[in-house]
Amino acid sequence: MTRAELLEWLRGADDAALFAAADKIRRERYGTEVFLRGIVEFSNHCVKRCRYCGLRAPNTRAQRYRLAPADILEAAALAARLGLGTVVLQSGDDPFYDRETIAALVRRIKREHDLAVTLSLGDRTDEEFACWKEAGADRYLLKIETGDKTLYERNRPGERIEDRLERVRCLKKYGYEVGSGVIVDLPGMDLEILAADIETLAGLELDMLAAGPFIPHPDTPLRSAPQGLLAPALRTSALLRILNPWANIASTSALDAAAPNGRKLGLNAGCNVLMPSLTPEKVRADYAIYPGKNAAGIQDNVRKLQQDIRELGLEPSNSQGFARRSSYVRKSPPGRQAGDYAGRTP
Ligand code: SAH
Ligand code: SF4
Repeated sequence: MTRAELLEWLRGADDAALFAAADKIRRERYGTEVFLRGIVEFSNHCVKRCRYCGLRAPNTRAQRYRLAPADILEAAALAARLGLGTVVLQSGDDPFYDRETIAALVRRIKREHDLAVTLSLGDRTDEEFACWKEAGADRYLLKIETGDKTLYERNRPGERIEDRLERVRCLKKYGYEVGSGVIVDLPGMDLEILAADIETLAGLELDMLAAGPFIPHPDTPLRSAPQGLLAPALRTSALLRILNPWANIASTSALDAAAPNGRKLGLNAGCNVLMPSLTPEKVRADYAIYPGKNAAGIQDNVRKLQQDIRELGLEPSNSQGFARRSSYVRKSPPGRQAGDYAGRTP
């Protein structure tokens, strides 16, 4: 797909055709299955200062918490009991949980449960990544947020996009299934930047992808910036599906923050993964990356998602849900798929 074509789709030339093409590819790879990953947000402490995020270190209004290992293990056990095939351990960039603490948690979860383990702990060292893989972790999520150097470095003070990209590549080398993604409509992002980001993600050949809209948080420097819209985030998800047919693509909770039913619409636009929060009730509202996150209780939320999936004619799956790569890996983004939306010049 050329840059010009990407831009036309992103401008909304024909959403119905775009979403139908993405849906068709998802069904070819994943049938009607939707994977559920239970996410345990075990610490909202963070040493970073991302301008978009409510967990940023300078936010003195955040109620900070750290879960004890026993609580994290209990939440993982809940994932198993609820029939979710994967537990995702996520936190702010919080060095309090050192290499050995995380490794011990991963080992215990892998020993006690038939669960895939995904880590999303931010920018950690090569030694830590290697150790946690060795301990049994299956996957790592590290979003690039945007690949645009100026935008990235303005919004993640002190960080360099080259380092983020290098970490993503390094995680692949260690044998993780690796996921990344972008914040769509991050203030300052235009469609050219978004198109380039989609190409960058496709070039990384990742197993997991996510495109969530920007949701302003009142206790951040971007409090007055306009909220990201649903449509560009859905278009981005659909384009990611078309360019990465084998990938697991999350319908992010930020889609629900952008519009009611946002996540359901994501499942119709090429996404095949939902990530309900399993963070214990006593702290879950404090994991406020953006407002409204984790408003509902755990079991109600999981049940509602399962019902949403069925209403779409899809099936909530209890599989561990590894990416379905075929016998080859595309080396470059494919052109249009014959019969999908051939002949259209959006
Ligand atoms: N600290 C880790 C993981 C937790 S943050 C890291 O940064 O990688 C998880 C994700 O939340 C980030 O990758 C970012 O994409 C998303 N996020 C943060 N603030 C957001 C906002 N205001 N709107 C939408 N997504 C946001
Ligand atoms: Fe910390 Fe991640 Fe939020 Fe950045 S996005 S402030 S690293 S939790």
